[in-house]
Amino acid sequence: MALQALVASQHCCAVCALRLRGCQEVASYQQVLGSSGDENANESCGLCLGLLRAWQEPLRALLSEEPKLEGEYLLSIDLPVVGVLREQILLALAEEEATVVELKDLLQWLAQEELGSRGFVQAKEPLKADVFTIHATGDYSGSGTEILQSLQTPRSGTSRPSKKRRREEPPATLTASAATKALSGLSKDELKTKLGLGDLSEGLQRPSTSATLRLQICREGFFIRGRYLKLSRRLPQSPWVIEGERKGDGSVEEDITTPVAKYFGASEVRFHAEGREDIDVRMLGPGRPFVLEVKNARHLSIKLAEVQSAVNAAGDRVEISELRECQAKDMACLQRDAENHRKRYLAVCWSEKCLSRKDVEQLNQRGPFEVQQKTPVRVLHRRALATRPRTVYALKMEVINQHYFKLQVCAQAGMYIKEFVHGDLGRTKPSMRSFLQGQVEILQLDVEGVEEEDAEK
Ligand SMILES: [Zn+2]
Repeated sequence: MALQALVASQHCCAVCALRLRGCQEVASYQQVLGSSGDENANESCGLCLGLLRAWQEPLRALLSEEPKLEGEYLLSIDLPVVGVLREQILLALAEEEATVVELKDLLQWLAQEELGSRGFVQAKEPLKADVFTIHATGDYSGSGTEILQSLQTPRSGTSRPSKKRRREEPPATLTASAATKALSGLSKDELKTKLGLGDLSEGLQRPSTSATLRLQICREGFFIRGRYLKLSRRLPQSPWVIEGERKGDGSVEEDITTPVAKYFGASEVRFHAEGREDIDVRMLGPGRPFVLEVKNARHLSIKLAEVQSAVNAAGDRVEISELRECQAKDMACLQRDAENHRKRYLAVCWSEKCLSRKDVEQLNQRGPFEVQQKTPVRVLHRRALATRPRTVYALKMEVINQHYFKLQVCAQAGMYIKEFVHGDLGRTKPSMRSFLQGQVEILQLDVEGVEEEDAEK
């Protein structure tokens, strides 16, 4: 059947009729899309599955919802598999009439026009950081999907089905790119045989329903590093969830990521810190290093001083500083550094035994020594039982009165300080309890510094 006959047989919408004629004027397409004269406008189209009519409105809505969107754009359009199939049939039918404008091209033209009218420029270098991609995914579940099964069935006779293939049953869903690969370049007759159709135009029957479009804006994530202080003794580092139930109010993570996500209009901000402190431990000194991964940002004019002020103005429990842009690899370094860095702590402790001058002198003279720590009782529910050696580099004890003292500890990262003080029922050896030969309790703990390993060398 010739293309003009196809148009006449009403298998397609007025927009598709125009592209079959090879029209290159975007304005003409827009005119047809804007007119109400197309009596078939509300019926679905056998060629584009209604996607051409479903294109502009969601795109406009998406862009209106994004007043802060900045940067150059790329478009990625995934047609539903049935749409790919119909397009291949159409192209095979149009063999000699090569002027047909392909569906994807037309969708691109229309989007370019819309985006251009809003001042957006198509990106030439896809890897630039300020490029965003509009992903359009077409979904279709109406009639015509059954024809796809002929493409999924392994061809008989050509090869023995291997064990591997039998194990793969049922066949995976056919993807649009697999369908394109399987069908493109085939002649009318080859396509007819492959699809098991008596006449190719049967494959272009007007479908019962139209396809729908999902639109999404994506942008590569970028990274920011900095340091945080935690000034509260009632704030966990990450959201505190026990058996699916949210406990407490907020976290260091949320106090930082919520204002940052708002600042950039980002869909998600991931937080990675170098180690962690307990809920009742303050993080002081220069602060703990962290890296933020900002995903799908809309707003790109990065002024880190503004980001910092936004976080610090949002509450008084967390303070951030030293923000700078960084790379993805810095996130992996955080984990490695967490093991290498030494940390300085300040604890306020109580001793059952009266403290003597001799106790203080002996303690303050201890040079670096190793502590063997069995996994603490309080974290046994989430950590495997193990004995870990950790180094204490220096101790400094300062007596407040006979039973109370301040203790400064400089230790290898990852040491459990509370357990080092009270001994954890003998699971941490040696401990302040064993040094002072009596019960010792820790009343208050602050992290005063996170230092590079080399810092004291
Ligand atoms: Zn159409």
